[in-house]
Amino acid sequence: ELVVENIHLKYGAIEVLKGASFAVEKGQIAALLGPSGSGKTTLLRTVAGLERAYKGRVSVSGKQVFDGDRKLDLPAEKRGLGFVFQSYALWPNRTVFDNVAYGLRLRKVADAEVRRKVGDVLEVLGLGHLHTRYPSQLSGGQQQRVAIARSLAYDPAVLLLDEPLSNLDAKLRDEARAFLKELITREERAAVIVTHDQIEALAIADTIVLLNGGVIAQEGSPEDLYNRPRTLFTADFIGNNV
Ligand code: ATP
Repeated sequence: ELVVENIHLKYGAIEVLKGASFAVEKGQIAALLGPSGSGKTTLLRTVAGLERAYKGRVSVSGKQVFDGDRKLDLPAEKRGLGFVFQSYALWPNRTVFDNVAYGLRLRKVADAEVRRKVGDVLEVLGLGHLHTRYPSQLSGGQQQRVAIARSLAYDPAVLLLDEPLSNLDAKLRDEARAFLKELITREERAAVIVTHDQIEALAIADTIVLLNGGVIAQEGSPEDLYNRPRTLFTADFIGNNV
């Protein structure tokens, strides 16, 4: 569903991504895990089309959206991806409905279609009763769902989430994690979640993509990384270094 190959990216003279590759299937969640500065957010933003790699390839549902060699570089809104920021980035002075509708209206989607899409997506996310609330009148978990609703309104094949659970307290985080997992499976989308928390990654991911210094240290199932670490770094980071 999402295939990312050999991504290289520089900030100035510094190479931050040095040939990163990973893939995620429909209905599955991949966690980009790694220490601070390893390039997780940069890799996610590159996939989204918000940062420019100088080499590599990205394809979404079999369609190439970036190819450094062919100078193919589709803009973010044409990649078939939804992006959820850590801060949620909701408009404080717009209602839940208008927050979710905003991007659709910007794309000149007809009013009736906007009402139907936004209504549907808010229902799916359990926010059907909150159309007229403002973000400040919502819990952290509800705000996060509005942010997810907003990106789902475009019907993306792949959802990209940067530390989506880090602003939530422990109880809400467990709920949101379960909800997100169920949503991805049920809707047959794919998701990539950035996290620096190995416990989080072990709990939510079907695949863990462990980054270290801009390269993939190991990619595999949580069970694989935990029980069969291929390097000391993986063993250390995943916490099974006894
Ligand atoms: P964290 O968990 O702390 O968010 P991360 O793994 O997401 O870290 P990135 O934010 O992707 O790491 O950063 C990777 C490297 O690129 C870091 O060394 C960072 O300082 C550098 N970097 C990130 N953004 C920029 C930028 N806009 N200009 C220059 N360097 C940057």
